[in-house]
Amino acid sequence: MIEKLDKIKNSSLDIIAKINSIEELQDLRKDLMGKKSELSEVLKSLGSLEAEKRKKIGIKATEMKNLLIEKLDEREGYLIDQKSVLEEPLDVTRPGDKVNSGSLHPITQMCYDLNDAFLSLGFEVYSEDDISSEQFAFDNLNFAKDHPARQSMDTFWLDGTEEKSGCERLCLRPHLTGGSVRYLLEHGAPARFVYPGRVYRNETTDARHERAFFQYEALIVDKNISFSSGMVMIQTILEKVFGRKINVRMREGFFPFTEPGYEIDMECLVCGGKGCKVCNHNGWIEVMPGGVIHPNVLKSANLDPEEWTGFYINIGLDRLVMMRYGVDDVRLFHSADLRFLKEFK
Ligand SMILES: [Zn+2]
Repeated sequence: MIEKLDKIKNSSLDIIAKINSIEELQDLRKDLMGKKSELSEVLKSLGSLEAEKRKKIGIKATEMKNLLIEKLDEREGYLIDQKSVLEEPLDVTRPGDKVNSGSLHPITQMCYDLNDAFLSLGFEVYSEDDISSEQFAFDNLNFAKDHPARQSMDTFWLDGTEEKSGCERLCLRPHLTGGSVRYLLEHGAPARFVYPGRVYRNETTDARHERAFFQYEALIVDKNISFSSGMVMIQTILEKVFGRKINVRMREGFFPFTEPGYEIDMECLVCGGKGCKVCNHNGWIEVMPGGVIHPNVLKSANLDPEEWTGFYINIGLDRLVMMRYGVDDVRLFHSADLRFLKEFK
């Protein structure tokens, strides 16, 4: 009986060592361990043996069974390892697979960079609905009743509200500035916040005009905010965005919601101030209107103009992006031409 067990063991170990697939190994496991296996036959026959012999052979058979299980498991582990290696052979010299990935549009990237710059100065990012009203788009901002911007040729008024006025006469916001009064009414002063977003103009589109475009506006309201505070704010922001000092100049400008208002120019980075197509050959490019908040706007926001002052800037995202990359045609950024946009990854 012992000899028979040894014979089974040796032949089983031989077969296990030669198995080369997991499927074959599973079949073999059934053959060697199943109820009809030779080993099971031996174990079944133990009952007819005398006690001592039964014990001796029983121990031997159990040891053998454990050994075969161990060898089967070992072989299975080896085959699993081999299988994964064989299916995906590792070739360290093979070039990596190219992963297609998108990227932020340069204008979006600029918007995020401005957010970071303003957040670092303690500003909050605020957003308002795209639908505004005559009250917030014009009345609160000191626009004269007959101001041409109120006309339907400039502003998209919503159907069904033509006969109404104030907060009930609705429009797509023609600029962001209305959001400034809404924020101040909600939060009071002092305040410093930016409010980027899309604005809408009822215009015929051409190379320089779009019906919808992005603006980026910032307002700081506090006691003793002066022209020079505004200038420092602008220079700080431009320095953060461009990573170096940028020359800035201010010219007189007129906007109903400012007193005084300014046109703010930065040196043209496309030509380095020498003069080029982008800057109309004068070395400066207008990047943002701005100015000191008009007392009437503060009153609209329930703030006392004797106590509070403030400074607006409205940043032209397109212009800053042109300056950042030295690109001289703004239409390229709106072209949705992937060959161009992929350059900014
Ligand atoms: Zn230039």
